[in-house]
This record gives sequence, C-alpha cells and structure tokens, in this order.
Amino acid sequence: MKNILTFDIEDWYHPNLADKDLLGAGPFEDRVEEPTLRILNILDETHNKATFFVVGDIAEKFPDLVREIVRRGHEVGSHGYRHNLVYDYTEAQFETDLGNSVRLLEKITGRKVLGYRAPSWSLGEKTPWAWDAMHDLGLQYDSSLYPFKTFLYGDSTSSRFEYNLTLSGDKPFREIPPSVAEVLGRRVPFSGGFYFRVVPYVFLKAGIRQYNRAGQPAVVYLHPWEIDVEQPRLKPDALKRFILYANLKRTEKKLRRLLTDFRFISIKDHWGLTDARPQPQLAVSAGEPVQ
Ligand SMILES: [Zn+2]
Repeated sequence: MKNILTFDIEDWYHPNLADKDLLGAGPFEDRVEEPTLRILNILDETHNKATFFVVGDIAEKFPDLVREIVRRGHEVGSHGYRHNLVYDYTEAQFETDLGNSVRLLEKITGRKVLGYRAPSWSLGEKTPWAWDAMHDLGLQYDSSLYPFKTFLYGDSTSSRFEYNLTLSGDKPFREIPPSVAEVLGRRVPFSGGFYFRVVPYVFLKAGIRQYNRAGQPAVVYLHPWEIDVEQPRLKPDALKRFILYANLKRTEKKLRRLLTDFRFISIKDHWGLTDARPQPQLAVSAGEPVQ
C-alpha cells in the first residue's frame, strides 16, 4: 500500500514556537534551499513522490526551488503566504493571505494549486470560513486538522482518516489529516515533525502499519529545517527548545530508512487529481468564419 509524504517548505525562523521576541527584527539568514534540495535528492534516490506545501515568502525568494520541486514530479500546495496562524486572522485577512499565496505558486509553476496546510495546524471549529475560502480559490483539499489536541493546535475527536467536509451550499471538499496512532484506546502522534524525530523507528513503522492494516494510507510530514543541523539556535524555554531541536542530527537517516521501507506518493496522486490549468476557451465558435 502506498503512503502519503508531505513537506512544509519554510525556514528555521518560521515555526510559531520561535517567538518573534527571540528572533528580533531580522533580516534572517535564508537556509531553506540546501535542505530542500537534499530532500529532493533523497526522494529521487528512493523513488518516492511527495506534496510540498510552500510558504509564499519562500516562493517569492526562491521561485527556482519551487519549479525544481515540480520538475522532479512532486505536487506543490500552499502553506500560507506569511506563515501566520489562521485563528489570528479575520476571514478577509485569511482570504488575502491564501489568495496571494495560491496566485504566486500558480504563476511560478503553471499548475493549479489543489491543497492547503495551515501553519501550525491552526484551523478548526473557530475558523469555518477557512475551508470556504479554499474552495472559492479552486482548491480541492485541506490537510490541517490535527486529530490530537496539544497546547497549540488539534482536536482529539476529529477523524484520523481522510473524509469529506460538508461546506455551506454542499460544496465538495476533502480533508486529509496527519496520521496519529491509537495505542490502548489513546491517540499517540508519531508521523511528523517533533514526534517523527523523537519516536523510536520501530514505533514509526508500527504506526504506519496500523494505518495500512485499516486500509488507509499514513500521512507523514516533515520540514527542511528538521534536517538542517547547522541552523542558528534560538533559546526559548527548555520545552520549546526540545520541541524545536530534538534529534535534528538523526532525522535525515530516519527519513531515508522510512523511504526505503515504505512507498510514498503525493496527496494529488493518492486521489488521482489533476493540477493541469484549464486551457483558455477558444474565442471563435464552430461554424463562424475565421477572419
Ligand atoms: Zn509551518
């Protein structure tokens, strides 16, 4: 069974745990290109494909990197323009942020953007308008509802498997959440980010197998900064420091191993969606003489 691999393409200064106070005003050192190219090479070597949710700021600075992702056969989705939390936005602000990011990515790639992932999984019941905004921009799916509650995000009652959302006016829309295992009736995150870095490899493997036994693909996610060992280190409190930087050194090796043991594809290919842009309508209708 094929599983789903996703990357949120952002730099070391984007995570919302890296408080703006600690970061200062910037400008910050851009480091995203090198680890992203390393990820692309690992995917080529292991014959896997993925969905890359790209931050607008990054696409603006590195359009060639976005084109390279597409050239190598992967899907590009939106991770917001400024990597701000969705629940800090008004509906209108969100529409502007998402619309700008989608238009930029489509201009760079020549493809239709189909999916979105919220920065820090920051949407849910309080932001029902977010899915309508995605639908209105021509998107077909969201991958932001974390089925596990933490201090920053998530909902432990939402589905662990893909499902159809019911939007106003019965508009079709899909949700594909990151994977969370179930152990003795409790939900245990394992499939990405901090959890991916700290859980033993056997647990990671067991989590994916649990999904596959249920006839479902596991959805795995990582960020390029999680394999960027030399990144500048911020100094928030000990817990946040642990969440941001635990096991960076071992993550690339773990990812390689996973990509050898399982097969991965993009979300678009999982559902057989097409991201070809519609051809412009011919101005001349049949039977009319052409001048
Ligand atoms: Zn992010």
